[in-house]
Amino acid sequence: MNYGLYLTTHILCGIISIMNRQGKNNPMFGRKHKKTTIEELRAQKLGDKNPQWKGDNVGYFGVHGWIKNRLPKPDKCEICNEQPAFDLANISGEYRRNLDDWQWICRRCHMLQDGRLNNLRHDYKRITMNCLFCGREFKVIPSKSRGRTFCSVSCAVKWRWQFGRCDSLRKIERDKALEDYVRANPHLSLKEIGKVFGISVSRVWQIRKAKTDVL
Ligand SMILES: [Zn+2]
Ligand SMILES: [Zn+2]
Repeated sequence: MNYGLYLTTHILCGIISIMNRQGKNNPMFGRKHKKTTIEELRAQKLGDKNPQWKGDNVGYFGVHGWIKNRLPKPDKCEICNEQPAFDLANISGEYRRNLDDWQWICRRCHMLQDGRLNNLRHDYKRITMNCLFCGREFKVIPSKSRGRTFCSVSCAVKWRWQFGRCDSLRKIERDKALEDYVRANPHLSLKEIGKVFGISVSRVWQIRKAKTDVL
């Protein structure tokens, strides 16, 4: 069978049938939906009659669109009352399907509000860790907590100076510290441990192997 010819005919037939439905041949040619019909269609699709209605369990964009269609947009920002209203902003941060929880505000007020919200969120999420060198508490965002060991660069440098050098006494001290550190952070990889102590992956592996051999 000649598939090339078959496909060409298939595509051509499709194009011809589309062209046949354009212009005068279209059933809607020269006609328009009446305004009332459009309103009726819209009313049918608003609210819980809408096939895409998902109740209160919708994402941000769903609620945002829902509110935008219903909350009248004022001329001026609802916070500063100076700049023209531009953005529809959520007040509580919970994106409720409630007109009272939203307001029309200007770009500047929106940015200020977002900054405030983000700061709150970060403070809430931050976790406390103890510095390996000075023992002081410090706070980090969870995404940056992995492999983070020191409160400051100066603590990291001092730690390196004390344990990163390779004379034999310090080596024993360092190996002991490394063992303690591994026990306290069992989830860290050899590479991450090496980075903390300023040594290579294979060196970490050797130190750990020597320890387990003795035990
Ligand atoms: Zn404003
Ligand atoms: Zn420190």
